[in-house]
Amino acid sequence: MLYNSTENKNEVVSASQAIAQGISKDGGLFVPQELPKYDIDTLKELLSLGYKGIAKKVFSDFLTDFTAEEIDECVEKAYTVEKFGGENPAPIAYKKFNGNDVNILELWHGPTCAFKDMALQILPHLLTKSLKKTNDGKDAVILVATSGDTGKAALEGFKDVDHTKILVFYPVDGVSPMQKHQMNTQEGANVNVCAIEGNFDDAQTGVKKIFTTAEINEVLHNNNMMFSSANSINWGRLLPQIVYYIASYCELVNDGKIKLGDKINVVVPTGNFGNILASYYACCMGLPINKFICASNSNNVLTDFINSGVYDKNRQFYTTISPSMDILVSSNLERLLYKLSGDNDAVTAEWMTALKTSGKYTVSEEVKNAVTSAFYGGCCDDEETKKVIAKFFKEEGYLCDTHTAVAVSVYDKYVQETGDKTPVVIASTASPYKFSRAVLTAVNGEDNLPETEFEMVDMLNKLTGVEIPAPLASLKDKKARFSDVVKVNEMPDYVLSSLGVK
Ligand SMILES: *Cc1c(COP(=O)(O)O)cnc(C)c1O
Repeated sequence: MLYNSTENKNEVVSASQAIAQGISKDGGLFVPQELPKYDIDTLKELLSLGYKGIAKKVFSDFLTDFTAEEIDECVEKAYTVEKFGGENPAPIAYKKFNGNDVNILELWHGPTCAFKDMALQILPHLLTKSLKKTNDGKDAVILVATSGDTGKAALEGFKDVDHTKILVFYPVDGVSPMQKHQMNTQEGANVNVCAIEGNFDDAQTGVKKIFTTAEINEVLHNNNMMFSSANSINWGRLLPQIVYYIASYCELVNDGKIKLGDKINVVVPTGNFGNILASYYACCMGLPINKFICASNSNNVLTDFINSGVYDKNRQFYTTISPSMDILVSSNLERLLYKLSGDNDAVTAEWMTALKTSGKYTVSEEVKNAVTSAFYGGCCDDEETKKVIAKFFKEEGYLCDTHTAVAVSVYDKYVQETGDKTPVVIASTASPYKFSRAVLTAVNGEDNLPETEFEMVDMLNKLTGVEIPAPLASLKDKKARFSDVVKVNEMPDYVLSSLGVK
């Protein structure tokens, strides 16, 4: 299987090149030229394979320049019981909300307590193997822009991995205290963390620019290094996410919730559009999905886009209690538009150029109709998010994080609006303890709030009886190692000097 850039079809690479490089030279994103097809018989065979078995099957169909042994090794090292707390790294909690069944796909049982671990525990293995195949002897410099969770998950995945260095940029006021503490206390000899004065979009734009600046790449090249990406612009991030949609479908069948062949709806709390796009690819491969429900917080640029076909980032940016979704430029939408426009690289490039120059583009009537028929877009503000957390906990004793609550809220609206009660999978993307303050005030009100993050964690635990994940509990006494803050225009210099090549 080969991959090409969404902005230039003639830019064709192998799977390992796509993963090693992260982003195409022209700024486009790598996409598979065609998708493998899973019919009902294939899905039937997957039912008995378990998570790792399904992962191996999916990886081998996409990463055709990897051997079966290499894929086995990557999967076995990534999804261990030790790292994910069980044989199944992505269990489903069967709950009810407002009288409707909600099947909560818990994707946060990994080492950093957010769904990013599902991909970032395997990406370093895929990347080091890709580097060996494609770039003899070069070290990979992983540049990350994070809205909070990718940064920590990438640091944890890449720490002390041979021939890699990782540098994470996060918005100084745009992550939760726990997310910041997780990153600033990161161990490892090859890691660095730096805040930027700006929001996530500034960080992401800054990183993308560094990736595509010829002079900077030249300096790295001369020092036997090359850039790569651990953001969801890297195909190696998206592919592992396809796996859990297929695995959760199999789990629903195995648990007698649906019959093989039945359709499901999926609900995804969305920021950069990576997670929901993975479910869309799973559907293109043959997974029976009826509707993709895209849930946003007050930064509802995607809700408006799905309803109107106009993407317009010229609007107020809100800092919310679901910070990992505080994004106005959803990078992976580019991959969806490429697909829906019939693999049209010219028109995709045109829209992306318009986005860069005017912050806005309008898709064609056909693409708009295709988006609207497959996707439902909804949004929910902070107040509503807290109400949902409180109600869900009160009714079911189930404590969800702020991002998951946005998804539950939008799903609730969707059912009321449409009456569509197709069985649903709701992606639960983080542990509630990553956002303790917001979750605590949701279930307890603003009164008697303790001062420090870990006091809030303890109080939330006492109040709800919900276990604190061990990786978060163990951070309590750790000292911060990193405290740098730079302006956006200082990012390129910071990268070069922290690599020691300036
Ligand atoms: C990253 C993240 C999201 C958004 O996922 P995208 O793939 O960027 O759409 C949602 N929730 C949490 C907790 C996250 O960390």
